[in-house]
Amino acid sequence: MKLKDSSLLRAGSYINGNWCTSSKEFDVTDPATGNIIGSVAEVTLEQIENAITGAKLAQKEWALKTAKERASALMYWYSLIMANQADLASIMTAEQGKPLRESVGEIAYAASYIEWFAEQGKRIYGDLIPQPSNDRRLLTIQQPIGVVSAITPWNYPSGMITRKAAPALAAGCSFIIKPSELTPLSALALAELADRANIPSGLFNVVVGLDAESIGNELTQNPAIRKFSFTGSTKIGKKLLAQCSSTIKRTSLELGGNAPLIVFDDADLDVAVRGAMGSKFRNAGQTCVCANRIMVQRGIYDTFIERLTVQISKLKIGHGHIEDTDIGPLISCAAVTKVDSLVKDAIAAGAQLVLGGKIDKQGKYFYQPTLIIDVKPNMRIAKEEIFGPVASIIPFDTEEQAISMANDTPYGLAGYFFSADIGRSWRVSEALEYGMVGVNEGILTSVQAPFGGIKESGMGREGSHYGFDDYLEKKYICMGNL
Ligand code: NAP
Repeated sequence: MKLKDSSLLRAGSYINGNWCTSSKEFDVTDPATGNIIGSVAEVTLEQIENAITGAKLAQKEWALKTAKERASALMYWYSLIMANQADLASIMTAEQGKPLRESVGEIAYAASYIEWFAEQGKRIYGDLIPQPSNDRRLLTIQQPIGVVSAITPWNYPSGMITRKAAPALAAGCSFIIKPSELTPLSALALAELADRANIPSGLFNVVVGLDAESIGNELTQNPAIRKFSFTGSTKIGKKLLAQCSSTIKRTSLELGGNAPLIVFDDADLDVAVRGAMGSKFRNAGQTCVCANRIMVQRGIYDTFIERLTVQISKLKIGHGHIEDTDIGPLISCAAVTKVDSLVKDAIAAGAQLVLGGKIDKQGKYFYQPTLIIDVKPNMRIAKEEIFGPVASIIPFDTEEQAISMANDTPYGLAGYFFSADIGRSWRVSEALEYGMVGVNEGILTSVQAPFGGIKESGMGREGSHYGFDDYLEKKYICMGNL
């Protein structure tokens, strides 16, 4: 990895404006090669406690700043992130594996949350409520919730952090993040730029370590923390939600998905194939909103598969730093083994393999872009998150059947469908039990829109003007005897 500014690579937690060391270190590796790209000091319990104490003190002062003062600090951070976009992207590709152009896109996406919430922070309003008697006035004000902690996964190492940190800081909260042990360098680079942007000490803290459970215990149970935000698997989300109950912390969860992508007979097939490719193969299929079950209506089943096969065959596998790479490595050998077992299980149960289905010659972390058809809804591959570059196609006959199959899952993050019929577009949009629905669109996330799931995919929304709700307390004030 060649960087213009190698001082973006930090080697320990960032707490109260200081870079920490400790007696234990862990290595960060490039999943494409297995090579070590850095070593990072493991945070200690004492350092985490210092982070919480410092964040509590810093938050009090930060909350007294005007929204404009907070916005100016955040905009400076935003501009430094964009000025260092190429280096930040290169660090991300090195530790996470995604193609460089996707990393460049993620840095812009991550920065957009800081810009958006800096602007929106100036518009946090209260209400004046019509009074029940004339000697009273009723009003609400919104105040920052306090110290916020968060835990994020490796698949979007920067975007998942700023989606939480930006509304927290803009609302007047302080923030402590534990990124995945697999991608600490992107998080620490964001901290380096927060430091250069003079974000006051104690407001943005990054704690890195291998012992997720112990760090998580502190971040979910310390009473000084008033809100916890998690992005990751449903299994860990459930556990952390239970932990947060001990101090009744406000909790938001962005969890796993099992996205249906439905293609109706009346769809524009070029649009549908493009949508399916974008939704399925971004980040080698390691995306919570990835199309997990591609359901295709019988009348266009063969044509859709033919066209999809042509597009999948064009995908180039390789190291994310090679310019024309479309599909990088998966994050770990365990991830490759899981994807392979889902494919093998489906084939053994009667699905047909059209393309791929193997670990690639590029190395043990690379899985070939794969197409399997005639998948049945009861196969494991249709029930579990694939999290790999595997398009799994299920045929269906009627709209009712497609909706029923799509909703037959405990998850409810994102769903997609392709249809040219306006009536059907309304009906299906309303019937899908998902927090987000893409209509003739395979990629739906943007800072302006509320991102989040229902059912076991989580609670709360990130981005949009709703993105502040989880970081603010609404206080009702009753002025009497006027
Ligand atoms: P994961 O195993 O749940 O890990 C997510 C984070 O939780 C990581 O930082 C991990 O730390 C930490 N963690 C693991 N065990 C923990 C514990 N016992 N206590 C506290 N923290 C713990 O998920 P993943 O496999 O890394 O990420 C993929 C999952 O995230 C998928 O299910 C995907 O759908 C979901 N996701 C959801 C969204 C969304 O917006 N809804 C976005 C992206 C990803 P270490 O990595 O250091 O172990």
